Amino acid sequence: MSFKSLGLSEPILKAIQKKGYETPSPIQAKAIPSVLEGKDVLASAQTGTGKTAGFTLPMLHNLTTNGSEQRHRPIRALVLTPTRELAAQVHANVKEYSEFLNIRSTVIFGGVNQKPQVATIKQGVDVLVATPGRLIDLENQGLLSLKRVEIFVLDEADRMLDMGFLRDIERVMKLIPSKRQNLMFSATFSKDIKKLAYSILNNPVQVEATPENTAVEVIEQKVYRVAKGKKTGLIIKLISDGNWKQVLVFTRTKHGANKLCKKMISSGITAAAIHGNKSQGARTKALAGFKNGSVRVLVATDIAARGLDIPLLPHVINFELPNISEDYVHRIGRTGRAGAEGQAISLVSADETTYLKGIEKLIGESIEVEIVEGFEPDPNASTEPIKPGQNRNQGRRKNSNNRNSNKPKNSDRNRNKSQRRNDNRR
Ligand code: AMP
Repeated sequence: MSFKSLGLSEPILKAIQKKGYETPSPIQAKAIPSVLEGKDVLASAQTGTGKTAGFTLPMLHNLTTNGSEQRHRPIRALVLTPTRELAAQVHANVKEYSEFLNIRSTVIFGGVNQKPQVATIKQGVDVLVATPGRLIDLENQGLLSLKRVEIFVLDEADRMLDMGFLRDIERVMKLIPSKRQNLMFSATFSKDIKKLAYSILNNPVQVEATPENTAVEVIEQKVYRVAKGKKTGLIIKLISDGNWKQVLVFTRTKHGANKLCKKMISSGITAAAIHGNKSQGARTKALAGFKNGSVRVLVATDIAARGLDIPLLPHVINFELPNISEDYVHRIGRTGRAGAEGQAISLVSADETTYLKGIEKLIGESIEVEIVEGFEPDPNASTEPIKPGQNRNQGRRKNSNNRNSNKPKNSDRNRNKSQRRNDNRR
């Protein structure tokens, strides 16, 4: 199977060649032909499967072959993503893939000055990649119009719902024409996602990548049973003894990420934290350092890590297990990319036993357990799960109290408080 045989145009094939892709990934092979036919597509795929090219390539093909060239360049394709990072990465992909096309694109998200974004949109863009908050803000201010959108892409729909964007999505749907092509991507398919898909998509073709299974098969998974108070010591030992160079560590809360990051640095391991309270600049810097090797450890929360484009990660460590089992699969999926082998390690204290059981049930296997001398689990610790107030919701609630310090400058008077709070979380 080649990209050419999928029917993509020459300028797009040239861009693919420049990227060095040889064959389409499974999700690309399945999704691209249907998108080219103009059909709505509902795809089950997570980051790392090549899903971005899966919708971007045929979208660009359709925009350049179906549409007449439009002098004023209305927004003809809208890609909605849950996080700023993902928006930036999708846009970077759009730019690369459209290098040899007469296509202009841009990206907008909150937390940064809106002026440069508005200036670019005014010059005319064919493809707009956006997070919901900023998109609605600018539309409310009359600074952009979505009335000419022909292709609508909802990326990481499950994460959108997790982050409380349902109402924003519904608003956006009212701003775009009812006759359009829709592409929806989601890693998981809950009842709510199916409901959303039903309301957005028109007779969709369903395609599925199976990264979950592949990931789980090629990734070496291990659980270290350890006392809660000894986790920091153990993680530092594992990284140092193994001389691991590029490690992605997941914590449940932003506070936990900061704390762990500081401890690593004081032990001589270069580390950076990436989460919703960090400025865009700090996140970009942390990610760049991690990619170029000057930062050995990136400590992230699930939401911040979502959509990070870091290929071929050798090590992922769960400093704490996620309380949502599917998040475990997302996290460890970051090590199994492009067929490279990876190692996923979880430090599990007694109070995480229930989460571990849930994860093992989901992946259909039990994970090998190891205990390191000097870092044994506490035999007297309770196996009661961490109280809801202590898990990741805590970070959200706490942060929402700080919302005044992080108030968006643009006028979003028409949006209610809870929506603004959602924006500030990212
Ligand atoms: P995504 O799932 O869209 O986040 O893509 C994950 C990674 O795979 C990115 O670094 C892409 O550049 C890369 N990628 C996408 N498609 C292909 C392909 N057909 N062959 C090799 N790498 C690819």
